[in-house]
Amino acid sequence: MLSVPLRTREIHLESRPDGWPTPDNFKLAEVDLPVLDDGQVLVANRYMSVDPYMRGRMNDVKSYVAPFQIDTPLDGGAVGEVIASASNDVAVGATVLHGLGWREHAVLDAGKVTVVDTSLAPESAYLGALGMTGLTAWGGLLHAARFKPGDAVFVSGAAGAVGAVVGQIAKASGASRVIGSAGSPEKVARLKELGFDAAFDYHDGPVSASLKKAAPDGIDVYFDNVGGEHLEAALSSLNLYGRVAMCGAISQYNSTEPSPAPRNLALLIGKRLNVRGFLVGEYADKSAEFAEQMAGWLADGSVTRDETVREGLDQAAQAFIDLLGGANTGKMLVKL
Ligand code: NAP
Repeated sequence: MLSVPLRTREIHLESRPDGWPTPDNFKLAEVDLPVLDDGQVLVANRYMSVDPYMRGRMNDVKSYVAPFQIDTPLDGGAVGEVIASASNDVAVGATVLHGLGWREHAVLDAGKVTVVDTSLAPESAYLGALGMTGLTAWGGLLHAARFKPGDAVFVSGAAGAVGAVVGQIAKASGASRVIGSAGSPEKVARLKELGFDAAFDYHDGPVSASLKKAAPDGIDVYFDNVGGEHLEAALSSLNLYGRVAMCGAISQYNSTEPSPAPRNLALLIGKRLNVRGFLVGEYADKSAEFAEQMAGWLADGSVTRDETVREGLDQAAQAFIDLLGGANTGKMLVKL
C-alpha cells in the first residue's frame, strides 16, 4: 500500500514567452495536497504529455482552448495510478488517464478520469497512439481528408507523434504511396523502417522540389502538421480533387511574424481541392471505433509506437521546449 503524500510538486507558468519559450517561463513549485472530497481520487502521475498545442496556451489569446494563467499550474494529458479514492466508481490501484499533467499528483473528481486497460498496451500508449495523438491521426486521415485506398499520401512532421501514425495508418489502409518529411537524416531513416515509401529531410532544399522527387505522380492527400512552405509545396503537388487535412502549423507556433506561405492558394480552384481544418475533439464520439482499430494495428504490427521519454518533473519544461525544436522521435513524454 502506497503512503499518501501531503505535499507535491507542479509546474507553474511564470511568464509568457515572446517567440521561443525558455526555461524561465516555467517555475517548479511545491504545494500542499488537498484532502479528498467525496467522489474524488488522488492520482500519482506516471507519465505526462508535452504537446505542441501547449505553446498556443502560453499566449494570452482567445482560442479553442483556454490560455494558461500566470502563477497557476499548467495542465495537459497524464496517466497515473489511483493511490487514494473517495469514490465508489474508481478503486485504488486503477490506472487512469486524465487532464491534470505537469504535476506529480492530481486530485480530481472520479468522473474526470478514464480507467485504461494496461493489459492491452502499456500506460504510456494512452498518451500517444492509443490516445489523443492517435485519434488525431486516425480522424484527420480517415475523416477530415476522406482517405480512400489507392490514394498517395504526404504527411509532414512525419516522425512525430501524429505524423508517424498517419503514415502507418495510410499504409495499413491501402495507400498507393506514403511520403513523409522530417527534420533529420535519422528521422528519415526511421520513416523508411516504419514502411514509408519515400521520405526526405526538409532542410535538404526547397520542400516543393523534394516532394516532387518523392512523389513524381503527385499526391491525393496532404496531412499538414507544419503549415507554411510545406503547405505551399503540397498544394503544388496535389492531384485533381486532392484533399488536405489541416492538423497543425508548427512552423509558425514560435513566429513573431505571419508566414508568407502558402502563396499559391488559387490552385484550389483549378485543381478543385478540398482543404479541411479539424480538431481532434470532433472525433470524440468515434473513440471506441478508433480504439478497437488502433489496438488491432498495434497488435498485428501495422503501427509501431515510437516514444522519446525524459525523466522527472524538473525536466518537463525542457522536454516541451525540445519537442518544439524537434528533439523527439514519436511521442514526447515525461516519466514522473
Ligand atoms: P510532434 O510531431 O511529435 O512534435 C513536433 C515536431 O514538429 C517536432 O518533432 C519537429 O520535428 C517538428 N517541427 C518543429 N518545428 C518545425 C518546422 N519549423 N518545420 C517542420 N517541422 C517542425 O507533435 P505532435 O503532437 O505529433 O503534433 C503534430 C502537429 O499536430 C502539431 O502541429 C500539432 O499542433 C498538431 N495537432 C493538432 C491536433 C488537432 O486537433 N488539430 C491535435 C494534436 C496535434 P522535425 O525534427 O521533423 O522538425
